[in-house]
Amino acid sequence: MRRRHTSNRNSVAAIDWGYGINKARVINADVNDLRMSEAILREMPELQTCIGCGGCTATCTAGALTDFNFRMLHTLVRRGEYEGMYEQLNKCMLCGKCRLVCPRGINTRALVMLLKRKLGDN
Ligand code: SF4
Ligand code: SF4
Repeated sequence: MRRRHTSNRNSVAAIDWGYGINKARVINADVNDLRMSEAILREMPELQTCIGCGGCTATCTAGALTDFNFRMLHTLVRRGEYEGMYEQLNKCMLCGKCRLVCPRGINTRALVMLLKRKLGDN
């Protein structure tokens, strides 16, 4: 561990741990194309009530076997980010467990099918 000393006594010395945990990532929602996201929300407005609790991901059958993360996917969709989405959604087994636990009563299984239909159309 290396310490970088600063001459300013009021500033906190930055610590260089020698590695970074995550790459910096900036989301610019003004640049993202939200048309598909808005069309999805028109068909399933209850998705706007999602509180991001992660219950869907925690109980997900596909998530236990693969890197599938349903909460991340539908969060990205609402932000207008769709890259690699369709391929990820193919990992869903349509078992419906996520729907049983959603505290908002969102039909998440139907959401998977809606997303695939919308993304497949493009
Ligand atoms: S379980 Fe429901 S409320 Fe929680 S993150 Fe999933 S969709 Fe959103
Ligand atoms: S329906 Fe799909 S997203 Fe929902 S728990 Fe089953 S495998 Fe996971």
